[in-house]
Amino acid sequence: MTVHSDLAAHDGTPNDGTPSWLARLTEGSLARRRPSRHEALAVLGSGDDVLLEVVAAAARVRRAFFGNRVKLNYLVNMKSGLCAEDCSYCSQRRGSQAGVLTYNWISPQQAADEAARAAAAGAKRVCLVASGRGPSDRDVERVARTISAIREGHPELEVCVCLGILGAEHASRLKEAGADAYNHNLNTAASNYGSICSTHSFEDRVGTVRHAAGAGLSPCSGVIVGMGESDDELVDVAFGLHELGPDSVPVNFLMPFEGTPLAGHLELSPAKCLRALAMFRFVFPDVEVRIAGGREMHLRSLQPLGLHIANSIFLGDYLTSEGAPGAADLAMIADAGFVVEGADEVTLPAHRRGNGVPVAPALRRRGPGTEVPANA
Ligand code: SF4
Repeated sequence: MTVHSDLAAHDGTPNDGTPSWLARLTEGSLARRRPSRHEALAVLGSGDDVLLEVVAAAARVRRAFFGNRVKLNYLVNMKSGLCAEDCSYCSQRRGSQAGVLTYNWISPQQAADEAARAAAAGAKRVCLVASGRGPSDRDVERVARTISAIREGHPELEVCVCLGILGAEHASRLKEAGADAYNHNLNTAASNYGSICSTHSFEDRVGTVRHAAGAGLSPCSGVIVGMGESDDELVDVAFGLHELGPDSVPVNFLMPFEGTPLAGHLELSPAKCLRALAMFRFVFPDVEVRIAGGREMHLRSLQPLGLHIANSIFLGDYLTSEGAPGAADLAMIADAGFVVEGADEVTLPAHRRGNGVPVAPALRRRGPGTEVPANA
């Protein structure tokens, strides 16, 4: 709040009602310049009096790169619960009393059947998820067979895999098996990581995203908002993700499951969620920003405003909790004036395509021949 008030006081307000700091931030984001920390904090600290201006500014950026398309993703929980890790937000963690479904690997055909249902409902990407610290060789081979089974019926579907901490060899094997993307969220800032998990580190997560990208898998990595992090920490993780160059950034809002350490932890309002989404949109103007878990619980009646910022959502149920019926989400998308992105449409703008690998070298614009010092 303080940050925004300071900026507004110094900057004044242009005629259309958009504060000048926000107008400048928007122009920078449209030019694909990462906001400064000060600007990102100003978005998070802005008041409800300018909420619609913030949403409208983020919507300009969203429309510039993604038009009015909404990408639908579908989660398939291939192995549920009984994880030995202790991520405090997770209903599948060690010692969880959340009462979630627990089962071992579903068969490749069961997963393919789920994927077929998702495709019929309009999903463009299926996310194959398994609980656990990371996969064994056998797990990776099982997922490889699952990808083949999905491809047989629905070659048009994008397949994202999410199996925890991944090494370079497993990443290459998944790529070879036909996976398009790999998801591993950073979740929170490095400085906050120790407070949410003790069994693996922030660096493990960064390493996994790097291995996925290095194998040519489209890197997908995001956050969980609402775990007690400060605005500074939320900006830290956004900027940390930015350095990793993900193609998609899921923004989750904490679902505080009973029977987990974060039970009863409710610090989010719909407006706060919109500000967080907007900050991620400004930091990732041309990247798929997805409203992920907690959408229904925390955005509630303001979900359609979220679609003006994010260009992607999950359809239907989540890993261990129930989401809205797919038909209700499709109606919301249509009512808000958006269209579901088709299988023949490419999500990312042309300049970003290439599975996370830069499509062309960035031309040097600093150092000798310029007024700007080179990186050293
Ligand atoms: S490693 Fe994954 S499944 Fe296990 S507790 Fe952490 S988030 Fe949950």
